[in-house]
Amino acid sequence: MKRVYNFSAGPAVLPEEVLKEAADEMLDYKGTGMSVMEMSHRSKAFQEIIDTAEQDLRDLMNIPDNYKVLFLQGGASQQFAAVPMNLMKNGVADYIVTGQWAKKAYQEAQKYGKAVKVASSEDETFSYIPDCSNLEIDEDADYVYICENNTIYGTKFKTLPNTKGKPLVSDVSSCFLSEPIDVTKYGVIYGGVQKNIGPAGVVIVIIREDLIPETPAVENTPTMLLYKTHADANSLYNTPPAYGIYICGKVFKWIKKMGGLEAMKIHNEKKAAILYDFLDQSKLFKGTVRKEDRSLMNVPFVTGDKDLDAKFVAEAKAAGFENLKGHRSVGGMRASIYNAMPIEGVEALVAFMKKFEEENA
Ligand SMILES: *Cc1c(COP(=O)(O)O)cnc(C)c1O
Repeated sequence: MKRVYNFSAGPAVLPEEVLKEAADEMLDYKGTGMSVMEMSHRSKAFQEIIDTAEQDLRDLMNIPDNYKVLFLQGGASQQFAAVPMNLMKNGVADYIVTGQWAKKAYQEAQKYGKAVKVASSEDETFSYIPDCSNLEIDEDADYVYICENNTIYGTKFKTLPNTKGKPLVSDVSSCFLSEPIDVTKYGVIYGGVQKNIGPAGVVIVIIREDLIPETPAVENTPTMLLYKTHADANSLYNTPPAYGIYICGKVFKWIKKMGGLEAMKIHNEKKAAILYDFLDQSKLFKGTVRKEDRSLMNVPFVTGDKDLDAKFVAEAKAAGFENLKGHRSVGGMRASIYNAMPIEGVEALVAFMKKFEEENA
């Protein structure tokens, strides 16, 4: 069996331990004589899986009781519509546009009300996070929206925006569980799990209960897009993405065993530092974003020469470093170093980059 170092931005690397456990339980989950994939979502065995997953997530993130945890489908992209459809009571929301994902969310919200771009970093190809300490927040804005970690560009909000009392909605798809956060600072936290937590097909929404509307902001919102539908049914209104939730649950256990989010943060900072320190002294490779806004999860870099970038990606692949090609919209390279990427993977990559630099100087 061969395992590569997988630097994919998503779907992405998962802890080997989790995959092995899932393999062991594939044919007979805990004496049920069936796989979790074959199991009724109304069964006792599955109820225990989803309840345990929720509790472990609550423990890890220290989620207060007045927040609901929803396990949904439709990807993070579906939330671009669900958020305004549920929350835009006054028909106004403020968006901070720091990358493609935030921009897509902003554009989607325009379909349902007045979405206002209150800050953007598009002027410099999203290579930084704008100062959000004193933005002009609309008086009747229903929420302020951010994409907390910009997967494509490799920037991250190190301080949350001053929302002037409005609820903060944050897409955390690519930094979910990468470090501790204070849930009480948010109205809604959501993310697709395929970046840092589990397989594609699950999106987790953590929402303050008072923000779940009895009647949606937008008339005729589909039942499946109403937060209330899923909150009232504890994510079992219809068939949930059962197998995905099961794997997420295993990853939550794995993170707990590793020491929780404090330990994850230390582990992630260590890995990122190895790569950024190398980039900062390299004569061939350079990082593409403002230093103080650098992501711990997604590290884009370039040589400045397209052909050399392509040569690097090809040689890296041949050496067992997969998915280092940058996003199609920006080019260059990107190493995504999520929770499950071992430190050895980053060390090996940097050693390979050094060698490449020597050979191509
Ligand atoms: C990947 C990603 C998305 C899109 O997720 P889907 O589940 O494919 O819809 C949205 N936001 C961020 C920050 C992402 O990284």
